[in-house]
Amino acid sequence: MNINDPESYLESLRTLERNVYVLGERCTNTVDNPLVRPSANAVAETYEVGAEPEAASLLFTTSHLSGREISRFTHIHQSTDDLVDKVLMQRLLGRRTATCFQRCVGMDGFNALYSVTHECDEAHGTPYHARFKDYLEWVQDSNVVVEGAMTDVKGDRSLRPGEQPDPDMFLHLVDRTPEGIVVRGAKAHQTGALNSHEILVMPTTAMREGEEEFAVSFAVPADTKGITFVLGRQPSDTRKMEGSPLDLGNRYGSQEALVIFDDVFVPSERVFMCGETDQSGKVVERFASFHRQSYGGCKVGVGDVLIGAAQLAADYQGSSKASHVRDKITEMVHLNETLFCCGIACSAQGRATEAGNYEVEPLLANICKLNVTRFPFEIARLLQDIAGGLIVTMPSEKDFDNPETAAYLEKYLKGVDSVPTLDRIKVLKFIENMTVGCGAAAYLTESIHGAGSPQAQRIMISRLANLKEKVELAKRISHIED
Ligand code: SF4
Repeated sequence: MNINDPESYLESLRTLERNVYVLGERCTNTVDNPLVRPSANAVAETYEVGAEPEAASLLFTTSHLSGREISRFTHIHQSTDDLVDKVLMQRLLGRRTATCFQRCVGMDGFNALYSVTHECDEAHGTPYHARFKDYLEWVQDSNVVVEGAMTDVKGDRSLRPGEQPDPDMFLHLVDRTPEGIVVRGAKAHQTGALNSHEILVMPTTAMREGEEEFAVSFAVPADTKGITFVLGRQPSDTRKMEGSPLDLGNRYGSQEALVIFDDVFVPSERVFMCGETDQSGKVVERFASFHRQSYGGCKVGVGDVLIGAAQLAADYQGSSKASHVRDKITEMVHLNETLFCCGIACSAQGRATEAGNYEVEPLLANICKLNVTRFPFEIARLLQDIAGGLIVTMPSEKDFDNPETAAYLEKYLKGVDSVPTLDRIKVLKFIENMTVGCGAAAYLTESIHGAGSPQAQRIMISRLANLKEKVELAKRISHIED
């Protein structure tokens, strides 16, 4: 398999023989399922955009393993410039899709496992790093989509993995054979699960001594026996099935699924951690930092589109010269670019790991994501404020098509005279999608909980803040002696 364009990507998904359920029914062709297709369109854009000369240097780079040209989504960052380029690529794709394009979780998983498998081998004499590099080189050459799977379902949150009444609440080892391992459990909220060829599994939290069976990491093809996918729903998602582009509001979309592993066999050459509890927390923290950096790119790109939509909506209804509207749009830009600053800052301050790849500065990456838990909501609020209540009271595309009502709607929903009514409605339908419809799943709720919920960032910020050093600074300036 060598996927180079949107068509070959979509075709490759059609060949997968997976066990997928959508709205209660087995789905053998996810690509052509209208509920899934907008999210596949978003991933396909990651194959499309690179063909544009101005985007090629962001979308493609050189493999440090093979020296060949590869997609940046499969790259191991070799410098702080690489980290910055990753954020720029994500902003570019956010601008193009106004949604989650789903390939960054795998990319961030690769970069976390690259350094941790190296350190694990140093500490335990394990063979993981070379295995992982072999796997990665295959991913780079084939250019498949790899879903990063971290979030376990967790059951009773007050109990550790080994204390759960049902041990399957955390994905775990159930058997070892000379050829590999057998695992059971489930991963929740899996971004792009139905649009991926491969699944890269990582532990969900730092495991302790006695929790060895839960410290597992591996990769398997998405159509491995024993894996079942159940697509998650989104607000107003059945609009995707109505065949009405106007009412849908965005032809791109995001996707999450529950992925169940029911005694799945993983061959040894695809196992990258098995029982090394002291390494599991490093995978979680490094992956989280990379993905918290990612949000300083993708959500900013989406924000760019929303700021454009605010300006358009104001222009179309004649309110764009009002000072409060100009102020609100300026505030949206300020919030959005602040997120971008965080994404760039944690990249520019990145550093080399023992394995030689570069990781982001974790305090700044966590600041980035904590801001993302808030600012997109304020941007969306300002957008709704500017757009007006019509975003949730518009008639359907069918009413605009019906000769009995079309002329009334054209007349009474018009804004400024020079703008066709339908253009005004198009931008308002997009705003509806992004702030209260299915697009809000990726832009709003994912901004809170994706890459870890706000409390996870607060814990990391408090751990990394170095308050002792700040106290010493204050004492020195205040002439306080120890
Ligand atoms: Fe990529 Fe953003 Fe989606 Fe994460 S939320 S996979 S960073 S587009």
